[in-house]
Amino acid sequence: MPKRSRYAGRHRGRHRAEVKPRSAAVPGAAAAALTLTATGAAVIPGLAGSATANANDSGPLTHAQGSDSATGSQQVVGLREREAQSVMLAQAREARTEAAARTSRAEARQAIEAKRRKALAMAHRWVMPVQDFRFTSDFGARWGKLHAGDDLAAPIGSRIGALSSGTVVFAGQQSGYGNKVEIRHWDGTVSWYGHMFQIDVKVGQKVDPGEKIGEVGNTGHSTGPHLHLEIHPDGGGPVDPQPWLAKHGLKI
Ligand SMILES: [Zn+2]
Repeated sequence: MPKRSRYAGRHRGRHRAEVKPRSAAVPGAAAAALTLTATGAAVIPGLAGSATANANDSGPLTHAQGSDSATGSQQVVGLREREAQSVMLAQAREARTEAAARTSRAEARQAIEAKRRKALAMAHRWVMPVQDFRFTSDFGARWGKLHAGDDLAAPIGSRIGALSSGTVVFAGQQSGYGNKVEIRHWDGTVSWYGHMFQIDVKVGQKVDPGEKIGEVGNTGHSTGPHLHLEIHPDGGGPVDPQPWLAKHGLKI
């Protein structure tokens, strides 16, 4: 028997311990009920004082009325609390959804920006106009005249690509240059391509870096198939292409 009672005691003890957190909610509800009871009790003449005093010292009739109103009020309060809770939960859910939407919008913006930057970097690349060539003549005085560019010897028909992205501002024949193309690039630099065998672009055409604009030839005043390349910063006078190309990450 003692064994059993001890067991029962332990069981009750545990049971109480489990119930405790649940009964912790009671003070709130009880307080609300008490407040309402106090309000209800205040209308009864001759009964004034604390809520505890009203609850404890009311007569049988008052007590019964108080009890009834307390039970009803408790239900109302319970409903209101649940409503308030569900509103708060809904608001929290809404806030979370909004935050998630904000995050995904920010991520989308970042992705667009990264794509734009990558596209810009691609558009702003500088590419050697011919890939396999032999450097034959540099910028400087020749026979009393200025050789205003670099000569890159390559077989006739070799592909010539645009130095970078830009707009074709000249495509045709010019004395001395033969078939010639001029491209105004995104930074204002104008590149000239002379002695071309073939021209593949038209004035006004937009080109990407390395896009084919024609082929290496021997037209105009030329002693052999080569590309005559000139660099005109801001469309002004020609500069020595080699240091300019080096500054733009290209080597001759
Ligand atoms: Zn030349």
